[in-house]
Amino acid sequence: MNNDILKVLYSKDEIDTACQRLGKEISQAYAGKVPVVIGVLKGAIFFMTDIARHVDGYMQIDFVDVSSYHGGTSSSGTVELLQDINTDISGRDVLIVEDIVDTGRTLRFLLDLFDKRGANSVKVCTLLDKPAARIVGADSDFIGFSVPNEFLVGYGLDYDEKYRNLPYIGVLKPEIYTNN
Ligand code: 5GP
Repeated sequence: MNNDILKVLYSKDEIDTACQRLGKEISQAYAGKVPVVIGVLKGAIFFMTDIARHVDGYMQIDFVDVSSYHGGTSSSGTVELLQDINTDISGRDVLIVEDIVDTGRTLRFLLDLFDKRGANSVKVCTLLDKPAARIVGADSDFIGFSVPNEFLVGYGLDYDEKYRNLPYIGVLKPEIYTNN
């Protein structure tokens, strides 16, 4: 699996350091509140569990599953809700936890959905932000790393459901996805 990686962009240690920093920022932003922290499946699972352990304060946890990629390397343009949360977020402070914001379509869909349900506030924490790929306006409040417009895998991010369990974030060799 490691042989399929062209270069490592962020090591496990660099990711840990970013999680600590973001945990502190989130703890301060929600001091005295009990946010509903919603992880976006499946890409954000590793980030969600790591970051939650760095937040000093009460929180509720839920997950939502949306899909826009369908196993390829470019966005399909439509976002589908595959699995909804089961928390009533009316009047609550919601924090969406994303692995990566690329075109912004997934995030826009979720921001609109949770706004419509009457959340008191909706903020976003993303590990990776790819500003050069943005098509739809959707800003994050807490950002781990701003990344170049390359296809990344590892630490939750997949290509064709593989590589999610890499402990680091890397760039996949182009021949891996051009040969498929
Ligand atoms: P968006 O809707 O912002 O275009 O894309 C959001 C989703 O697309 C992410 O949650 C992630 O699943 C997927 N995605 C975007 N860029 C990448 C990337 O570089 N690598 C991988 N593996 N997935 C990506």
